[in-house]
Amino acid sequence: MKAIINPEKCICCKKCAVAKACPIKAVFRLGEGEPAVVDMGLCHGCGLCAAECPAKAVVLRES
Ligand code: SF4
Ligand code: SF4
Repeated sequence: MKAIINPEKCICCKKCAVAKACPIKAVFRLGEGEPAVVDMGLCHGCGLCAAECPAKAVVLRES
């Protein structure tokens, strides 16, 4: 599994709850006001982040 953030759903929170929830810091922002992005090389699909997004922008997919 891998987590993917749908940029069309991401509401670009000031502090990303998904990034905060990720134990290995696989979620980052390209810049202020930009959608969050998951580093696919790092994500191990634990799913811990998915429930934290207020916009339900995280999708877990088979890798
Ligand atoms: S918590 Fe969800 S909506 Fe907010 S910045 Fe992170 S991914 Fe986007
Ligand atoms: S699924 Fe786990 S490893 Fe991947 S981004 Fe979410 S919390 Fe991080």
